[in-house]
Amino acid sequence: MQTPAKCDYERARSVDAAIASLVEHEGTARIIAGGHSLIPMMKLRLAQPELLIDINDLEELAYIERQGDEIRIGAMTRHVDLLKSDLLAEHFPLFADAEEVIADPVVRNRGTIGGSLCQADPGEDLSAVCSAIKCEVVIRGTEGERVISMDEFHVGPYVTAVGAAEMLTEVRVKVRPGAGSAHEKVERRAGDFAIAAASAGVWVEGGTVADVGVALAAAGPFTIDVHRVEELMKGQAPTEEIFEKAGEIAAEDCMPMADTRGPIDYKRHLVGVLTKRALRRATARALQQEA
Ligand SMILES: Cc1cc2nc3c(=O)[nH]c(=O)nc-3n(C[C@H](O)[C@H](O)[C@H](O)COP(=O)(O)OP(=O)(O)OC[C@H]3O[C@@H](n4cnc5c(N)ncnc54)[C@H](O)[C@@H]3O)c2cc1C
Repeated sequence: MQTPAKCDYERARSVDAAIASLVEHEGTARIIAGGHSLIPMMKLRLAQPELLIDINDLEELAYIERQGDEIRIGAMTRHVDLLKSDLLAEHFPLFADAEEVIADPVVRNRGTIGGSLCQADPGEDLSAVCSAIKCEVVIRGTEGERVISMDEFHVGPYVTAVGAAEMLTEVRVKVRPGAGSAHEKVERRAGDFAIAAASAGVWVEGGTVADVGVALAAAGPFTIDVHRVEELMKGQAPTEEIFEKAGEIAAEDCMPMADTRGPIDYKRHLVGVLTKRALRRATARALQQEA
């Protein structure tokens, strides 16, 4: 089945209007941003909304800006703008690492960070990126806004903490000293979803790891935060030995499934290698030693 079922369509004029419409049609309406995940799902009849609420006119949700010690990214920011952002390149280069290998220019010109996170596809690169650098997300509903961590945001495969009558409006990340980050992915062919991917954020102070985050895409039924790497690395020197051990932990803690992209053992091995590479590159960037 390659044609979506019939549905109604409206263009939201403000965030409040979009939320009001979600409330009015609770459970039967869906926000549409870039449409690069939702439309394929509708064609396959995996999603059958009765009403699409198009938020592409909401320019107020398209920005990447610094406010105090935070970088704030609006939900309607397109992949291409994440790829080209000097602010993100300076503080969180893993966004550009990921965006260079997400899909193709057609998808990157339309797809948004809000849609990517809300889709919660276990293979989504940006979910791993935002988890590794410990982003928070802002969710708005009729009662106002709430700010939650990526851990709280991810509820399960294709399920997030965003309610049926709520919208994700913003992604926030703290700018802290000594930060480095990297995203490593292996794909079957250019523009494909990952066979496996690893994101790392590292914060180095006085020669030791003050904080670290590792998250995996396409390595289980949801984005996997490898919390045991934090226990391993915090307070330690960032050495090749510790990266190796972190890779072993990630390979143990991931939950890959065998599919057309490869068998479980291969994916586990890949996760280990990619985690080690991501940590090595993130640390080199933190220490301004990247070759
Ligand atoms: C050919 C192809 C290749 C791809 N390759 C990759 C890849 O390699 N890596 C990768 O990570 N991704 C890949 N993608 C997915 C791509 O990144 C999509 O753009 C992204 O997943 C969805 O963003 P969107 O804005 O298009 O969301 P949409 O499709 O518009 O929406 C997705 C979901 O999020 C909801 N939603 C959207 N915005 C909001 C909001 N602000 N608040 C609440 N709910 C919202 C929608 O209701 C829907 O349920 C690929 C897609 C295609 C078509």
